Amino acid sequence: MKAQVYRGAQQLCFEDVERPELKMGDVLVRTISTGLAPQDVDRSLSKVGEFPRIFGREIVGKIAEVGEGVEDWQVGQRVAVRSRVPCLQCDDCIDRRFSACTSYRRHTTTAGFFPAGGGFAEFVRVPRYLVERGGLWAIPSSVSWEQALFLDPVQRCLGAIDRANLHPGQIVWILGAGSLGSILALVLKHFGIRTAITDLNPDRLDRARDLNAGAVIPSVYDDMHTKIQAFTDGRGSDAAILTFPTRYSIHHAIDGTRRGGQLALICDDPFDRMQTIDPCLFSRRELSLTAGFTLDVRQRSLAEELICSRHLPFEQSISHRYSLEDLPIAIERASSEEADTVKIAIYPQSE
Ligand SMILES: [Zn+2]
Repeated sequence: MKAQVYRGAQQLCFEDVERPELKMGDVLVRTISTGLAPQDVDRSLSKVGEFPRIFGREIVGKIAEVGEGVEDWQVGQRVAVRSRVPCLQCDDCIDRRFSACTSYRRHTTTAGFFPAGGGFAEFVRVPRYLVERGGLWAIPSSVSWEQALFLDPVQRCLGAIDRANLHPGQIVWILGAGSLGSILALVLKHFGIRTAITDLNPDRLDRARDLNAGAVIPSVYDDMHTKIQAFTDGRGSDAAILTFPTRYSIHHAIDGTRRGGQLALICDDPFDRMQTIDPCLFSRRELSLTAGFTLDVRQRSLAEELICSRHLPFEQSISHRYSLEDLPIAIERASSEEADTVKIAIYPQSE
C-alpha cells in the first residue's frame, strides 16, 4: 500500500509499505480521508524522537478486515477513529488528566513502524486496546465523510471548553481563525457563548465570517487587544483561547482579557515562536491558565451528538483537499506565513 513515511524533519517520502497485519481483536480500516491536524504539520517539519513514522490521526474510512475475536464490527462499515483512549483506572485518569495516562500515550493507531496515527496511508490498524474502549465510531448514514472527520478535534475542543469552565453569557476571544478556531467558534455559539475571533489573514477571516459563528475582527499584530477591549466596551474578554502560536499572542491575550479572566492554551509549538512571559502577570491580574488538548473521554457522546447536528457545519471549514501523494504540498501550504488554509483534508483512497 502507499504511505507518506516521515524519515526526519521535512522528509516525507511517498512509499510502498506493507499493509498492517492484524492481531487478535484488531480492526483494519481502509482510509478514505484524514484531517491534517496542526500537530501533524508541526511534527512533519520538526525532529521527533524515533523515525520512520506515519502520522495522521483524524481518520475516517471503511472497515476492510476484522481480527479474530472481533464481533461488534463488520467489514464495510463506515467508521471514524479516535486515535487515543485513556484507561480510566490509573491515578491520572481518576484526576481527569487523560493525556498523562500511560495507556493513553502508549496505544494508538498505526500503519506501520513506530505507532504515530497512521492516517497518511491507505490502510490503518486500530489496535484491540482502542477497539474495545470506544476507539471506533460507526458513522450514521446521514453524516458525510467530511463532517465525521471532525470527531477527534471536536472532542478535544469540548475538553478544552470544559476545563476552562466557560458558560453562557460570557465573551470568549479566539486567537486564530484556523481549523481549531473555527470549530471552537461554532461549538461556543451552540452553547450560547459570544465569540470574537481575530486572525492576521484576511482569507481565513472571510471563511470564519461565512461560518457565522461570532464577531470577526480584522486586526494587525499591534491592535489585537485594543480591538477586543473596544468590542467588549472596555471590559475585556472573559476568556481568551490561543489556537495558534505567534510571537506576541500570549501578551495580547493577557492585555485583552479582563481581570479575573481566563486564558486557555490549546496549541503546541516545537519552533519556540511564542515569547516568554512574566508569570507574575497572572497573579497581578488574577488570571487563570488552562492548557492541554487531550481527547477528553467524558466528551465522547457529546462530540458524536454535535457531529450529527445539522446546525454545526464543521465540514464547511474545509478549505483545501489533497491526495495522499500531495501531502507535502498541503503541509507547506498550511505552514506558510501567509497561510490561507483553515482545514485541510487528505484523501488516501477514493470511496
Ligand atoms: Zn489511565
